[in-house]
Formats: sequence, C-alpha cells, structure tokens
Amino acid sequence: MRPWMCVFCANEFPPGETPPAVCPICDDDRQWLPVSGPSWTRLDETADNVLTARELEPGLIALSLHPSVGIGQRGLLVTTSEGNILWEPPGFVGPSLVDWLDAHGGVAAIASSHPHLVGASVSLSHRYGRVPVFYNDSDRRWVTRPDPVVHFWSDTTDVLGGVRLVQCGGHFPGSAVLHLPAAADGRGALLTGDTVKGVMQPGMVTFMRSYPNMIPLSPRLVCQIVDRLGDLRFDRLYDAFGVVVREGAREVVESSAERYIGWVTDEIVDPDDPHAPS
Ligand SMILES: [Zn+2]
Ligand SMILES: [Zn+2]
Repeated sequence: MRPWMCVFCANEFPPGETPPAVCPICDDDRQWLPVSGPSWTRLDETADNVLTARELEPGLIALSLHPSVGIGQRGLLVTTSEGNILWEPPGFVGPSLVDWLDAHGGVAAIASSHPHLVGASVSLSHRYGRVPVFYNDSDRRWVTRPDPVVHFWSDTTDVLGGVRLVQCGGHFPGSAVLHLPAAADGRGALLTGDTVKGVMQPGMVTFMRSYPNMIPLSPRLVCQIVDRLGDLRFDRLYDAFGVVVREGAREVVESSAERYIGWVTDEIVDPDDPHAPS
C-alpha cells in the first residue's frame, strides 16, 4: 500500500486503508487549510511531473517539478566527496526524479530546514538504501511519517563531506540551515529553507513564524537566528523558493534583522507618522 500524501503540503503519511483525519502541518497557524478541509492522495510512483535540473554552482543543483506539488519548494542536491545530500525534496517519487537521481550518484542523506518541506523524504530514503533523514529533535511532534530512517539531531550536526546542519529556530524551534563551507568559491553558502527567507527586494531577507499568514517573529527569535549564524563562514544564501543572495549574505542577514527588530519594537518609525513615539 502506498503512503498517503496531503495535497496542500505534500508531506507523506503512513500507508493505511484510510487517510488521517487532518494534516497537522496544514492545521496550524503557520500553514493553511482551505474551507473545504483536508485533501489526500496516494504518493504515486508513476506520476509524470516534469523535472528540471539546473546547476546553481559547482556541487549544487536545483530540482524543480512542473507542475509543482504541495508548497512548491525546489529541492536542492548537494554533491560531496562522500555522497549526495538531498535537501528539501518534493512530495514526489515519480520516474523523472528518481531516474535523474539514479543517473547522478543517488542519495546518501536527506535533510530539510523544517517540517513544512520534508516532502517524500522517507519514501526516497527507502528507495536509496534507507539513508538517514535528518529531522530536528525540537520538531519531533511534527513528523508525519515515523520510520526508523528518521534521524533526530539537535544544535548542530555533520551530515556528509564537511556539510553541517545548524539549528537556528524561529519559524519552528528546530528550524535549521545547511552550511556548505566549500560553496561560493570557498567563501561558504547557506541553504536556509524558511529559516531565512528571500524577498522581492535584492539585498533584503526576512524571518517569520508564518509566511502565508504573515505572523512575525519576536525580536528575541530574530536575534537568536543571527546569533546562531554568527560562527558560520558564508557569503551566499539560497532560500527554499529560488531566491539567491549571491554575495554579502552575512551583511544582508544582519542588516535585515536590524531593520526587522527596529520595526517590531518601534525603534524605527515612519518619518511621516504623527503618532510616532519620540
Ligand atoms: Zn498538509
Ligand atoms: Zn515553512
């Protein structure tokens, strides 16, 4: 029997006769459920969504599906001397993806920044010899498909080939980034998922509890994210939906955090605001 998949977030759930009553990921103030309620499908190994693979820089390939599934993140494949890390895979196991992965060295580890973007990690792990699926221990209650391949971690952990997960919190208590020390020509890069999110304006990023519902984070949590990134060497940043800060990413994160905290604490005010505190 094939696993169930929530249509709206494309996270997988255990196989069974009937789907779960509700998707806890979508029934939460960080995500959303339409008024029509939950909708389920079975993870389909014959789905024919078209895969586009694009090298972003040496050792990093973006994997996009058309049509996209669930929340619609693009997966990223990080190649290292010790094997490939699949980051934030879609809720998809069709031939376009697995044939491509087979032809490019398979998968040695799977990880995501947070529970929204786990997709079909467990099914893909089973497909690739039951490789570990890294899942932050602080977010343990959000695991939608419990399985022995789920490897809980906290604080920071080595994945493969010098690539590390670092827990920053914020969007979820276990929200993380993946640090690629050799990326950006050796200056280092972060895969940030929703932990640090790209925005429309170049040179700015943001941090939120909920992006679809626009719920901000407290100044404490934004400071915590910046502090947790403090020890990492990085100059570039890739979020979950295709925004890239190509250089100066640390300055962009720090100046964006300062601006954000200024607005949520009233320390920055609009110059035309007649009611601004003096
Ligand atoms: Zn869902
Ligand atoms: Zn999210």
